[in-house]
Amino acid sequence: MSHYDVDLFVIGGGSGGVRASRIAAQHGARVMLAEEYRVGGTCVIRGCVPKKLLVYASRFRGEFEDAAGYGWTVPQTSFEWPTLIANKDKEIARLEAAYTATLEKAGVNIVKSRAVLDDAHTVRLANGERVRAAHVLIATGGAPTYGDDIPGLEHAISSNEAFHLPHLPKHVLIQGGGYIAVEFAGIFAGLGSQVTLIYRGDNILRGFDDDVRQHVRMDMEKRGIRVITGCKVAAIAPSGSRLSVELSSGNHVSAECVMFATGRRPNVRNLGLEAIGVAIAKNGGVAVDEYSRSSVAHIYAVGDVTTRVNLTPVALREGAAFAYKVFGGRPTAVDHINVPTAVFSDPEVGAVGLTEMQARERLARTDIYRAMFRPLKATLSGRDTTVLLKIVVDGISGRVVGCHIVGEGAAEMIQVATIAVKMGATKADFDATMALHPTIAEELVTLRNRTASYAREAAE
Ligand SMILES: Cc1cc2nc3c(=O)[nH]c(=O)nc-3n(C[C@H](O)[C@H](O)[C@H](O)COP(=O)(O)OP(=O)(O)OC[C@H]3O[C@@H](n4cnc5c(N)ncnc54)[C@H](O)[C@@H]3O)c2cc1C
Repeated sequence: MSHYDVDLFVIGGGSGGVRASRIAAQHGARVMLAEEYRVGGTCVIRGCVPKKLLVYASRFRGEFEDAAGYGWTVPQTSFEWPTLIANKDKEIARLEAAYTATLEKAGVNIVKSRAVLDDAHTVRLANGERVRAAHVLIATGGAPTYGDDIPGLEHAISSNEAFHLPHLPKHVLIQGGGYIAVEFAGIFAGLGSQVTLIYRGDNILRGFDDDVRQHVRMDMEKRGIRVITGCKVAAIAPSGSRLSVELSSGNHVSAECVMFATGRRPNVRNLGLEAIGVAIAKNGGVAVDEYSRSSVAHIYAVGDVTTRVNLTPVALREGAAFAYKVFGGRPTAVDHINVPTAVFSDPEVGAVGLTEMQARERLARTDIYRAMFRPLKATLSGRDTTVLLKIVVDGISGRVVGCHIVGEGAAEMIQVATIAVKMGATKADFDATMALHPTIAEELVTLRNRTASYAREAAE
């Protein structure tokens, strides 16, 4: 009989923690999971899912506008923010209950409490109760960061609060250039707010292909979003019922709501990790090996708290792999190469693999196939928009090493294209695939003309 209370204690009931506990319990482990906020974690409660619901809501504006060219007369439309938020909250509550039920059915003991480590095998709950665990999984995710401590910072909200605003602000200022900032800019603009996006770098969506970054910015501006780069918020001060925002350029912007989407940090603080010798990596997350094991043999970490690739499917895979290894006797390492990613902006982005610049740095020869065209739907609607499709090819082997799409349905297309990229498909395989007409995706298999080819310059 084990002298531990449980075989596994999971700290954090988000994507990684929920998946790991369910699979561990299904393998017969006695599992306890502590969640200090709501079961489901960031993705379900205040991340991917509610965000996508708001994205859907925001896109109706464009559909109503586009309908006229197709013969529809759309009566005067109006939008009720409280209805959207109430319906979204109802769906999130349903999902939270479903997650809880699935865990309980698998035999996981859920405790609604913060949990920290007292020693390497002892977890302490908020009420002081101590639980001895053979294995511990840190799955505490991440939290928003706000950058420099500027005057009036307390007036800024993060994405967490954006999901619960009492009303739709007329003018929103968003600071940040990452996918969360860009997505919320699209959400607020689509729902009717005036949006200003401030980013300190030279262009939004750092890390994405340069053509993608330029294309998204151009289209966002066409849709009326004001994008100011090379600048940051210096101070925020209340001014009547609004906020007066001073920028580093010296200019002032008046806004009803200021949102910072300036990054997220792993939730490692005050967990008791350092005291028991769990090493923290340079990126601020828990340092782990390919099996998500920390520097302490029986303590593992998965998901955003490790900051490998901060996406839900990755946290799910890492959680599952951990459980298979430790409780299923099946060592499984997660492959973090060619993880597809999307930005649910308007227009949408889907991307997998290397950007053009990454390929040119790494490969002896890089071939680029690129197309920019007006989608069929925009012909009758008259919308001023174009689709960007770009394939990055290893010029020596012919393998497709990157695929980047901006336009309606980009995320759905990239999920499917990722199978081909992951399998090592070549440009010739893409060309040999019959097109499906009339679609945007058919361009992936009809891009015949190379638009550029680069040989890597020999190192000195
Ligand atoms: C606005 C937004 C939009 C996003 N959109 C997408 C998207 O479209 N697609 C995508 O793939 N990813 C998206 N993400 C990222 C995704 O949500 C995360 O990658 C994912 O949730 C990580 O899962 P996790 O299990 O590591 O952590 P989390 O889901 O963050 O779960 C961690 C949990 O631990 C709990 N916790 C923390 N500390 C303690 C403690 N000491 N004791 C008890 N409980 C604790 C927290 O309350 C939380 O519930 C988005 C994130 C945000 C913020």
